[in-house]
Amino acid sequence: MSEMSPRLRAELEGIPTYKPGRPAAVGGPDAYKLSSNENPYPPLPGVLESVTAAASSFNRYPDMACTGLVNELSERFGVPLSHLSTGTGSVGVAQQLIQATSGPGDEVVYAWRSFEAYPIITRISGATPVEVPLTPGDVHDLDAMAEAITDRTRLVFVCNPNNPTGTVVRRTELERFLDRVPGDVLVVLDEAYREFIRDLEVPDGVELYRQRPNVCVLRTFSKAYGLAGLRVGFAIAHEPVAAALRKTAVPFGVSQLAQEAAIASLRAEDELLGRVGSLVCERTRVVEGLRAQGWTVPETHANFVWLRLGERTADFSAACEEHGVVVRPFLGEGVRVTIGESEANDVFLKVSEVFR
Ligand code: PMP
Repeated sequence: MSEMSPRLRAELEGIPTYKPGRPAAVGGPDAYKLSSNENPYPPLPGVLESVTAAASSFNRYPDMACTGLVNELSERFGVPLSHLSTGTGSVGVAQQLIQATSGPGDEVVYAWRSFEAYPIITRISGATPVEVPLTPGDVHDLDAMAEAITDRTRLVFVCNPNNPTGTVVRRTELERFLDRVPGDVLVVLDEAYREFIRDLEVPDGVELYRQRPNVCVLRTFSKAYGLAGLRVGFAIAHEPVAAALRKTAVPFGVSQLAQEAAIASLRAEDELLGRVGSLVCERTRVVEGLRAQGWTVPETHANFVWLRLGERTADFSAACEEHGVVVRPFLGEGVRVTIGESEANDVFLKVSEVFR
């Protein structure tokens, strides 16, 4: 057999990769997994029932257009059907957005540190990532981001709240930024953690989308709605963008199980948002606990907290694992810790106290 050509090999090996997730097992058999910003509550019985019912027909392909789900979303958000597009998690939709808009020679602007998928999906499309450092307070530097936009910029991500810092941009500054963005640049408001926000000054991206044709909103069922394992997210965008998303979608990418679970979750929204309320209370308890221990914790608006630990990051993460809590280290920078069930948060607070 002849050797693979060096060029093909280099191209394949050059594809960027995600870091493997940190499973709970690295912290022992009973460890709490606080490393992926998941919802600690188990599925609601009604949601499980809808999935079980759909399972009896998984010899069939799913509804490619996600008709039932798109109808529900259209009603829920008061947007036309043609402005909605679903995908395999919001990361799948984000990848489609870049594919649809950007290629070699084009630039994608986002804050850094932010969601780790942005550089990967940008490079997969052959586009160039332009990373704009967060301010020392770990907030998007929207002035610097506006200045980073060039003729080559096709797309800008604003992650609100930002992963992994939990910080937000507020209405006035976001609107001022949007005023500075040329109309041919698409601004993607990634609102994966929207339901955890309690600050009224943080704008709802859907309102901004209604006012501006170049704004698109990304949402997910993975966090507040607790469906991370089923992979379903969606975008709300004006016609040409949403239409391009439908064209770039992996055919049948959202399983019927995921579609039914998402519909059932929207119908059980009150109960699910009640759970979010409990997690927000836990978040306050964890942040106050950490601050009382002497930690500096940025104000978080999501279901996780960010501790800037610098060189102590690996040691802190290892100490958590030793005590049965798995967190997400960003080596040399800090750790992101998901707000979990109260027992998990208690264990984490004990470790943070000892480590301090
Ligand atoms: N956006 C942000 C900011 C995230 O943190 C995540 C998940 N970690 C996603 C999008 C993607 O979530 P999903 O693909 O599960 O919808």
